[in-house]
Amino acid sequence: MNSQEDHASGSPRPAGQKETAQDLSSTHVTHVREDVAMAGRCANVHLPTGRTCTLPVRHPGSCNFVGPEDAEDVAVH
Ligand SMILES: [Zn+2]
Repeated sequence: MNSQEDHASGSPRPAGQKETAQDLSSTHVTHVREDVAMAGRCANVHLPTGRTCTLPVRHPGSCNFVGPEDAEDVAVH
């Protein structure tokens, strides 16, 4: 009962709404390397290893993560 009181006070909570919106947009946490993405590649970064997928964007199947040196080869500078 007590926890509902501040909800029922009538005024919306802007901070709470903003958090919800951000949460929705970042439901799927993926990291993309911009310089590789600009080369038309998938550019997904495998965060645990720091490797990058250099397959074409929207490639079928799973990502093929390569090391930083190979990623540099396809990256746009
Ligand atoms: Zn990929």
